[in-house]
Amino acid sequence: SSMNTYCGIPDHMKMDSTLIKDLADVAKDYALLQGVLMRIQETPNSSELVTYAPFTLFPTPVPKEDFFQAVAVQTHYNTLVDKISRDPEFLQDALASTITVDDFTAKLFKIHEQILKEGRSQSIVLGLNRSDYMLDQREDGMSSLKQIEINTFAASFGGLSSRTPDVHRHILKVAGRLEESQRIMDNNPAAGLAAAVAKAWELYGSERAVVMFLVEECQRNIFDQRYIENELWKRNISTIRKRFEDVWKTGSLDQDKRLFVNGQEVAVVYFRNGYMPQNYVSEQAWDARLLMERSLAVKCPDISTHLAGTKKVQQVLTRPGVLERFFPDQPQVVEQIRATFTGLYTLDMGPEGDKTVAMALASPDRFVLKPQREGGGNNIYGSEICQVLERLKESTERMAYILMDKIHPSPAHNFLLTQGTPLQISNCLSELGVFGAYVRQGEDMVQNECVGHLLRTKSSNHPDGGVAAGVAVLDNPLLV
Ligand code: ADP
Ligand code: MG
Ligand code: MG
Repeated sequence: SSMNTYCGIPDHMKMDSTLIKDLADVAKDYALLQGVLMRIQETPNSSELVTYAPFTLFPTPVPKEDFFQAVAVQTHYNTLVDKISRDPEFLQDALASTITVDDFTAKLFKIHEQILKEGRSQSIVLGLNRSDYMLDQREDGMSSLKQIEINTFAASFGGLSSRTPDVHRHILKVAGRLEESQRIMDNNPAAGLAAAVAKAWELYGSERAVVMFLVEECQRNIFDQRYIENELWKRNISTIRKRFEDVWKTGSLDQDKRLFVNGQEVAVVYFRNGYMPQNYVSEQAWDARLLMERSLAVKCPDISTHLAGTKKVQQVLTRPGVLERFFPDQPQVVEQIRATFTGLYTLDMGPEGDKTVAMALASPDRFVLKPQREGGGNNIYGSEICQVLERLKESTERMAYILMDKIHPSPAHNFLLTQGTPLQISNCLSELGVFGAYVRQGEDMVQNECVGHLLRTKSSNHPDGGVAAGVAVLDNPLLV
């Protein structure tokens, strides 16, 4: 699709620093009033001092064809993730090399194997994911939707992004741009995510059981989660917030494998923590993860869905015939998903991996080198790719990574509002996320939906990193 009419910020505005300063002040107050909040870095576990979550002063133009393409493919991505999670043979083959060198993925895989051996105790599956894209700028001036990754574990900002549309509507109005203000789309991922959690809770079938948010040690982004909690409370579903430590200290299974934490029966475990090695502070944290996985509680995600979201799986999916394995009779679904893929390359030992190494060393700026990590700030770019691959090229350790084509979105000017940083115009790149939610019971897909979107924008000086990593900020698409 093409990107022509809307230019982001009119030039006269970029120049007028008093106007921008006034607008930024209005924007921050409006964000606070709307509940676009975060705790401050110094006291992440207290709400005594809070600030606005970082966001852009203006929305960012996004071609509508790309936007609706991302929305349209989401339910297929939900189905794909679910199918992968139910295909132990595929997961085994896809991750075989990775788990010989990546300890974290290996530990997750071990839990997955143990659950397979014991047999899953719960046939209800709850999936909440976010598929992320950038719009690759093509030579013909058009853009093309390309997936960065899919997050099947603790995909965040569904809460806060439900409140940002009103902030940008207001700013555009104050800036005298009423027509554009009316074109900011509604967005309410919090409601859609909560509806799926509520469905899983209902199917679990125990009035007194609760939804347990498994939360971080450092809970700066608590408000994002509170929106989902509150949607559940509105439905008279009780929620509790517990850390790994609470689970290993007070968690147990009864003879039917019902999970009890601090005396309360848990119907759904919604993981918002547990995707990084450092989240597992001790062996007891791993024991707690295993306890939850073995239990009758619905896990969001379960261990195999967690593994389905690894970058290695993403790479394997681009191999010829793999999507066809999951959608044997649906060539149009295969085509729709595959259209969002960019080049992904194996670093397994052998001639194919050797070719990847040679290609990366020859033109490192064309690629991103990715380990099996989440949360931003882990990828490797440019000359560092050469350093790492020169060191690892003969070693099996290279199999912990995958190589990916670098996507080049076209930059736009904006002002990034972040507490404590001076107001300045930045050259920005944006990443569009689409939220998916599904619930399956046995063979029956009870619910499968696209429940909203997230636009995140960062300065082009940063190659990597999300909102939680302090690099990207919340934004809204303005369709053009
Ligand atoms: P994480 O799971 O840590 O979020 P991502 O794959 O999303 O890992 O990478 C983190 C960030 O790095 C992305 O938000 C994006 O800004 C940048 N990035 C990742 N892959 C690419 C790519 N292929 N092209 C350009 N930028 C990328
Ligand atoms: Mg991720
Ligand atoms: Mg990401």
